Amino acid sequence: MALTLAIIGLPQSGKTTLFNALTKAGAPISGYATSSVQANVAVVQVPDPRLAPLAEIFKPKKTTYTTVEFVDVAGMGQATQSSKEKREGLSPEFLGHIRNADALAIVLRTFVNENVPHIYGNIDPDRDLDSLNAELTLTDLATVERRIERTTKAAKSGDKKYQQELEVLRRLQDALNELNLASQVQLSSQEASMLNELFLLTMKPRMYVLNVSEEVLGAANDILASIARGESCEDVKGELKGIVTVAQRAKKEGAEVVAVSARLEAELAELAEEDAHEYLESLGLPQLGADRVIQVGYHLLNLITFLTAGEDEVRAWTVTKGAKAPEAAGKIHSDIERGFIRAEVTRFEDFMTVGSFAAAVKKGLQRLEGKDYVVQDGDIVHFRFNVGK
Ligand code: GDP
Repeated sequence: MALTLAIIGLPQSGKTTLFNALTKAGAPISGYATSSVQANVAVVQVPDPRLAPLAEIFKPKKTTYTTVEFVDVAGMGQATQSSKEKREGLSPEFLGHIRNADALAIVLRTFVNENVPHIYGNIDPDRDLDSLNAELTLTDLATVERRIERTTKAAKSGDKKYQQELEVLRRLQDALNELNLASQVQLSSQEASMLNELFLLTMKPRMYVLNVSEEVLGAANDILASIARGESCEDVKGELKGIVTVAQRAKKEGAEVVAVSARLEAELAELAEEDAHEYLESLGLPQLGADRVIQVGYHLLNLITFLTAGEDEVRAWTVTKGAKAPEAAGKIHSDIERGFIRAEVTRFEDFMTVGSFAAAVKKGLQRLEGKDYVVQDGDIVHFRFNVGK
């Protein structure tokens, strides 16, 4: 089952435009379905520059990429539109979609377009983020308070477990009341796993997708790089100001941030791949923004990729960071996990310097690893296994 990123944001921020660009860039492998709650869902391939060179060498019958799922859900920012909806908060349909997401891609508009009105009347991504966070934190607050009620009753039995749970819930309640994100509350891993079943929206890993005007895309990328290096970027004007503010917030929170022009991406997605790359180069951009969104999203999910390569298939596989060799083997087939003997591991970079497994063995570039080996991103793995009787 693919892991899911929910694309959320205010109305008219460019969510659907981005979704369309993503599904084209990443070549959707299942068509997208529109359900009754205005959600577009698509499984997209994660671009991986290592597969093409491997396929050059092995000339496999099939090349298979890893995938993630994106779901584009309308339904935020409605609270500003009527006081009735404000009281009711986010709709159950909307919540149904985002509670199950593994991470959030939050689209923030900085692009200027007179023909596309902003629900608050002007462009301010910092305010928009506050507004989205308020909706999410208030929803989480309601969840936590319902749980506090239940746990308070249960705690009357005197069971220490419930007392501890109450203490954690109250800490969360205080933070959410101040409109802080649940992810910013310091929790031990035991406390965090206790809260898993609440599916808190502000606990999910998040990336900010700044939807910028095409003209400032280059400058926006420079700003994101500078802020990631710890520079301050004070002297900027106009649209770039909002970009700096969001990038600084992301850094403080440990969230990822990407700048794209959703409209440009959607246009590029219509072009043949070569033409799109030529056009990107003419703009001084290294790769499609849609590809970056997919790659950063994948990273956000705490996933790494290992590879298998042969004449039948060159393939990228997903495992959670920290997974050991047998678990990785199990992604391919449960028999391989069950009968795991060892893993023959060659680093992708090492393999490319020699061009074959035989040469890798000869040069001492292939390692034999046992069941405690922690698989690394970019390992090309061949599993030895024996299922016997
Ligand atoms: P959603 O409501 O968040 O799904 O927003 P849409 O994707 O439907 O976009 C709303 C409008 O903004 C559409 O008319 C888009 O063409 C326009 N739009 C989206 N992205 C951009 C952009 O990067 N630049 C400009 N100028 N317009 C955009």
